Amino acid sequence: MARSVIALRSEPAALAIPAARAHEGPLADTRGRVLHDLRISVTDRCNFRCTYCMPKDVFGPDYPFLPHAEVLTFEEIVRVATLFARHGVRKIRLTGGEPLLRKDIDRLVAQLRKALPHVDLTLTTNGSALKAQAAALAAAGLDRITVSLDSLDDAIFRRMNDADFPVARVLEGIEAAARAGLSPIKINMVVKRAVNDDQVLDMARHFRGSSHVVRFIEFMDVGSTNGWRMDDVVPSAEIVRRISARHPLVAAQATYDGEVAQRWRYADGAGEIGVISSVTQAFCSSCTRARLSTHGHVYTCLFSQSGYDLKALLRSGAGDAELDAALTGIWQARADRYSEIRTAETARARKVEMSFIGG
Ligand code: SF4
Repeated sequence: MARSVIALRSEPAALAIPAARAHEGPLADTRGRVLHDLRISVTDRCNFRCTYCMPKDVFGPDYPFLPHAEVLTFEEIVRVATLFARHGVRKIRLTGGEPLLRKDIDRLVAQLRKALPHVDLTLTTNGSALKAQAAALAAAGLDRITVSLDSLDDAIFRRMNDADFPVARVLEGIEAAARAGLSPIKINMVVKRAVNDDQVLDMARHFRGSSHVVRFIEFMDVGSTNGWRMDDVVPSAEIVRRISARHPLVAAQATYDGEVAQRWRYADGAGEIGVISSVTQAFCSSCTRARLSTHGHVYTCLFSQSGYDLKALLRSGAGDAELDAALTGIWQARADRYSEIRTAETARARKVEMSFIGG
């Protein structure tokens, strides 16, 4: 069926911002989850066209990406991040789209680092521009980096990114990030059955013995354009079984409450892997992440259908007290648990595109 880019680009109306209630102690949502992480999408553009995220038939040359005026400025991003930090955010991840496509991204990192010296500041990238930018990002104060990499096989990788981008350049980017000290580096591999699941063992082997941690992610029904089916999901338990058959694994403790990946160590001491079981073992009950989109809306779930328009408030001259109250009300009203209630029916529902709010 032909898909209309206009229909996809026009979002449902923003939600009304709920009134804040007085509270003592940490800011918790309706299910007692305390705000801890903020993901900030700094651009809706990407130079890859991965079929599960930005398929070419939807995000083609005529796709109406956000005009510059609709994108949050660095100053706006830092202001919102600072307000979030006042409400308990301790970890910030810059995402996209591809965040390294945002001009002067290292300047944003430096501004965030200066405003929030104690926050854990990380970034997720497709790695294509990492070789050129790793040193500047580290110098600006970035703590760590995560690289999305779905295959080590050049032909499969080029097919999956659908931009004919060679895997060797991503691997060079990972090396540059390691040299710059952006460690431990995480490598995120989305596993889709019959597309790249035969690459799981190669990926594990390639990074075994390095200090990098490969995290295998179950293919999810993000956005409205990725054509998700349960049959495409390779359960994490199967991935652990496959790797462990060759290189025995033992379960490791989570590093902190709410850690998304389950950790497994190689029994011979050659490092660790992670699995993210977003479909088969939903972790909504410990999900403490808010998302700020490229156009300044706050989303409280990766699978949200709409968000709260914070940019309108920001640009109407709202003071910090008003913005504080908005963030408080938004988090207090949060009830999301999409992955716990996912069905074939919900998977077909229209959701915000991942390139808008980061993965
Ligand atoms: S489905 Fe939503 S609430 Fe559940 S873990 Fe994912 S982002 Fe969090």
